[in-house]
Amino acid sequence: MKLANKKAIVTGGTRGIGNAIVRELAGNGCSVVFTYFSSDEAARLLENELTSDNVKVLGFKADAASFAAAQETVNYAIQNIGGLDILINNAGRTKDNLLLRMSEQDFDSVVNANLKSVFNYTKAALKPMIGQRYGKIVNISSVVGIIGNPGQANYVASKAGIIGLTKSNAKELASRNINVNAVAPGFIETDMTGKLNDQQKEAILSAVPIKRLGKPEDIAKAVAFLCSSDADYITGQVLKVDGGMVM
Ligand code: NAP
Repeated sequence: MKLANKKAIVTGGTRGIGNAIVRELAGNGCSVVFTYFSSDEAARLLENELTSDNVKVLGFKADAASFAAAQETVNYAIQNIGGLDILINNAGRTKDNLLLRMSEQDFDSVVNANLKSVFNYTKAALKPMIGQRYGKIVNISSVVGIIGNPGQANYVASKAGIIGLTKSNAKELASRNINVNAVAPGFIETDMTGKLNDQQKEAILSAVPIKRLGKPEDIAKAVAFLCSSDADYITGQVLKVDGGMVM
């Protein structure tokens, strides 16, 4: 139980990578408030499945793009799980199109949900984390934020922005004993990549030395490591979890 008695917020916890992160943290003894946007039913199911004698797992409906909702989420965590040690900024969305056809609205909505959300939640988490002089923050970026990807200008800009924000925040917060790192997944089997056809999947696999797509659990294990005391001397890093796709 490498995270016993810790308290975490995970944004976007009912599906995909966020769901695997909630499970991994709770499995390591950490109480979790996860946010969600769409399904109350999925949130209640996850709460019931994971809450035990040792850990509380609670869902909180919040749009990650909303600054006010981030503060409400942190207040909810303090009141209901008793504090905040770990923040995982996972919520994210795509709205792909070639730049020529991308609307201003589609650019703004993706950047707000993916990048501004990291600012929102990090800022809200600072007060409790600085007060206790302890915190672990992990931001979910993407390898495309490092290498770019046609048809994803909005998404790539948001994921590259997360890397810059991670490094700045790591430098500002290290003296307060708060570690800030990013995980950059490659292609992971979730709803987000479920839209790819077989031909697209084959093309991706040909660029992955470990010849398989990633699983949400592959990301969750890396996140749990960065949240543990085993990673106390790691900050400002971007850990690629991509089967060797980007070296
Ligand atoms: P997913 O299955 O599509 O799940 C996205 C999650 O984000 C859902 O839980 C969703 O909540 C939440 N979300 C989206 N917009 C939100 C908003 N405005 N407010 C609150 N929650 C919001 O995607 P995924 O593959 O698990 O992706 C998780 C993270 O990993 C994202 O940041 C994504 O960019 C990143 N990533 C994924 C891959 C990949 O290959 N899958 C690769 C690189 C990076 P609801 O379901 O409640 O709407």
